[in-house]
Amino acid sequence: MTVPLAPHALALIGNTPLVRLSGPSEATGCEILAKCEFMNPGGSVKDRAALYIVQDAEAKGHLSPGGTIVEGTAGNTGIGLALVGQAKGYKVVIVIPETQSQEKKDTLRALGAELIEVAPTSYSNPAHYVHTSRRIAEETPNALWSNQFDNIANRLAHIRTTAPEIWAQTEGRIDGFTCAVGTGGTLAGTGLGLKEYRDDITIALTDPHGAALYEYYAHGELKAEGSSVAEGIGQSRITANLESAPIDTQYRISDEEGLAQVHALLREGLCVGLSSGINVAGAMALARDMGPGHRIVTMLCDSGMRYLSTLSNPAWLRAKGLEVPPWLEGR
Ligand code: PMP
Repeated sequence: MTVPLAPHALALIGNTPLVRLSGPSEATGCEILAKCEFMNPGGSVKDRAALYIVQDAEAKGHLSPGGTIVEGTAGNTGIGLALVGQAKGYKVVIVIPETQSQEKKDTLRALGAELIEVAPTSYSNPAHYVHTSRRIAEETPNALWSNQFDNIANRLAHIRTTAPEIWAQTEGRIDGFTCAVGTGGTLAGTGLGLKEYRDDITIALTDPHGAALYEYYAHGELKAEGSSVAEGIGQSRITANLESAPIDTQYRISDEEGLAQVHALLREGLCVGLSSGINVAGAMALARDMGPGHRIVTMLCDSGMRYLSTLSNPAWLRAKGLEVPPWLEGR
């Protein structure tokens, strides 16, 4: 198969490879496959949502030439928006919790985004980064608040691109799909899209500790327990993107389990972030429940190289009470 010529840079978003994960497949007797979202131009799954949100706003007349895109983001959506903004000539303003990795902040600045750092706080606090970004958009002329959490152009990206790609790449041989939730765009959109092909594909939530969705889908109550250092995932409410998401079952995965998969994937030649490790651990839990012989797809959301100052930093790992892998000892 030849790789087609991309007519312009934005056409490089999506169409990511699907890779078979040998360790998780052998451990479960299932075939565990993962979408290499770190191969998007901005290095994460969020490029898809960024492009759809901007295209949707343009189509609706909410964004016009010379306009500004404002978003509150843990980082990856901002990186996607910054690239899409550059390609289309929009200014991009990003409100980010100051606790996000230095690499993401440096990347956003390098891509030409204006960065506004705020202290982390609960969603109910008006100073929360999402509310701050809405206020800035309201006060800025010709600005779009891209609102990734409640703008369903986000999940539409996955209904229209991720799900059809997975269906084509697996030739319709797929039994389950799972991933963790930040906005819910990936899980709900891919779930809805896959169910359009076959209603009996199992869609599972993989929730990190500290998020409230596991309890919600298991027992109908939004309730969080524990905490996680994973960036980009961990939700405490039902976003518009999550509404009527077709979730059949749910798993709760710890940072330790996720990090073990990050390290195991490295030995397969894949360098991914913690949300990807948590997703793979979730896919293995689903595989064990479904039994040998099934085929399960998950997402490798971004690269581990985005987290050198955290996940590859022994001092940071120790401070968080996480194990330092042997190859990082003594550094
Ligand atoms: N992993 C990472 C690293 C992310 O940045 C995000 C986006 N916040 C997700 C997973 C979750 O994606 P979604 O917003 O589609 O739920």
